[in-house]
Amino acid sequence: MTNDPERMHHYFISDLHLDPSQPEIRDAFVHFLQNQLADAASLYILGDFFEVWLGDDDDDAFNLEIIANLKKLTIPVYIMHGNRDFLLGDKFCQETNCVLLADPTVVELFGTQFLLMHGDSLCTRDETYMTTRKAFRDPLFQKDFLSKPLAERKAFAQSIRDQSKEHMQSSVEEIMDVTPEEVIAEMEQHGVNQLIHGHTHRPAHHSVKLSHGQGSRYVMGDWTELGWYLVVSDSASGAQVALKSFRIA
Ligand code: MN
Repeated sequence: MTNDPERMHHYFISDLHLDPSQPEIRDAFVHFLQNQLADAASLYILGDFFEVWLGDDDDDAFNLEIIANLKKLTIPVYIMHGNRDFLLGDKFCQETNCVLLADPTVVELFGTQFLLMHGDSLCTRDETYMTTRKAFRDPLFQKDFLSKPLAERKAFAQSIRDQSKEHMQSSVEEIMDVTPEEVIAEMEQHGVNQLIHGHTHRPAHHSVKLSHGQGSRYVMGDWTELGWYLVVSDSASGAQVALKSFRIA
């Protein structure tokens, strides 16, 4: 941790869905790193940082550029798997100096406990997705997948993306969002009043009624026309959370 008193804010981002087809998002991210983090004590990336991650051995130029930019940071950077980049592994973390966080993770910032999640595990009403999620998170499946040639992995990922697009278009709005009961269960199980997640692309601050008191659920947005981020700062009354966005050219 840095002891610089100017660096007193913890930054959170998610769902950039970085992909070579959208250089403007990459540029916005590089700009964010260079300009928004001057007062940052740390950066948390809560999943779906990449549109797809096929393995740490995929060293195309786009990936290498992102890795180089992350490596330049002098603050601690934490990264959590999303549903699209759950194959980010040890090599990526070594090359970027990122620390991989489990989903979920509880961190204490300025005396307040925050539950951090990507958010996809909260969408339990989407049963098709939950079944797929379980299969993809199986270590044996992952080991087998990573042993395949990169071209084969690319083709497989593309077919999954096409299926996912179809599934999303044919699903009702509610099942694509978090299950309210699941949010309460996770927050109560971890004994927290604060939850930060992404995934749903529905940036908002929600109040949550918990058996142990009033809680807050902060949802970060994806990066499209706007780049979303969240800042946790110290205040006289404890940790303060601000959900912010900036325009991407
Ligand atoms: Mn996601």
